[in-house]
Amino acid sequence: MTSSNFDLKLKKYADLVVKVGLNIQPGQRLVVLAGLDTAPLVRLIAASAYQLGSRFVSVVWVDEPIHKIRYQNAPRDSFDEFSGWLFEGISDSMQEGDAYLQVWGRDPELSKGEDPDIVAIHRKTRAKHYKAIGDQQGINAVQWTVICPPTPDWATKIFPDISEDAALSRLWEAVFKACRLNDPDPIVFWEGYLANLAKRREYLTSKKYTALKFKASGTDLWVGLPKGHLWAGGKGKSSQDIPFAPNLPTEEVFTLPHKDQTEGTVTATKPLNYYGSLVENFKLTFSEGKVVDFSAEKGEDVLKNILAMDENASFLGEVALIPHKSPISQSGLIFMNTLYDENASNHLALGSAYQFTLKGGETMSVDEFAQAGGNDSLIHIDFMFGSGDMDVDGVTADGKAEPVMRAGEWAFDV
Ligand code: ZN
Ligand code: ZN
Repeated sequence: MTSSNFDLKLKKYADLVVKVGLNIQPGQRLVVLAGLDTAPLVRLIAASAYQLGSRFVSVVWVDEPIHKIRYQNAPRDSFDEFSGWLFEGISDSMQEGDAYLQVWGRDPELSKGEDPDIVAIHRKTRAKHYKAIGDQQGINAVQWTVICPPTPDWATKIFPDISEDAALSRLWEAVFKACRLNDPDPIVFWEGYLANLAKRREYLTSKKYTALKFKASGTDLWVGLPKGHLWAGGKGKSSQDIPFAPNLPTEEVFTLPHKDQTEGTVTATKPLNYYGSLVENFKLTFSEGKVVDFSAEKGEDVLKNILAMDENASFLGEVALIPHKSPISQSGLIFMNTLYDENASNHLALGSAYQFTLKGGETMSVDEFAQAGGNDSLIHIDFMFGSGDMDVDGVTADGKAEPVMRAGEWAFDV
């Protein structure tokens, strides 16, 4: 890739994020949370937002290596401390109507080798404070988008055998491809693609299937769906009724599995990266929704810990469909980053479900949601099980099976 070619694609990326992801409105302000390594892209994003009429773009810069320095040098009993104003400030901006962008290329192995107790307290403390922002995202208070552009630390973890420069340029190529930035007009592509996902989501919701049946080599699985489940995916709408794309890229439509109605065996088709620890070639057997047996060729102890995280960690919280020919799947690359990896293949998530995948779910208490079949857990861990030989059927209320996917591709037109 020549440098002018690269600059052109970076500019297209910035425009895509501002126009399709955030859909910035004239006069609207934008608040960005971004890693230092992503500054060249963030500057282009700011320029693009101003050109669309934004009044003010403010950027909160974060630096991941600072966490490592803290792990290694700060007092052991200090990891429950946090700058409360940081995320509260962003949340305040969102409540005033500012759009929010999270630019999160990250080192998948940042905490590798560090004291796990300290890392766990830091993560939990951060998560507690991030909730101020997360709650605004959960109700789509304003337009918000998450993107993950490559960073040197991340690229060298995926391509450890080549130079940092070469690794970074290979990861950029993969990200450009996944975001369709080689397309002559990525904005036109994504508008069409997201509209198609919305039609698929609406079709599947209207079917009111009682279950999905998955069949492939190593997988024979029944996933019950609760009454009132809603399919999600593609664009969302803010409380001001402005459409936006929360993730770029995105390929999935997903819904709510009934917590107690998964039966059978599933074999993962890609490794699961859990904070830098890999679980590979693993198999889960479910009965009445719960994992009752499991095995893994590599990382079985990691899998065991995940399943034992709390009492609901061994039940499902999400079932997602993605065509096998998606470019992320075809790249064959494990990005070690959920934004990309979960878009590679049909996936399931162990742990918590999204309340917006149930009709009226957003206003339910945790107990009411659980009564309706929704799972609640400390974890939400996606793992991939789709393949080019997977058939998926939807089971109708009268017990008939209809094709949803054949050989990994959509089996219905919209
Ligand atoms: Zn998903
Ligand atoms: Zn998920």
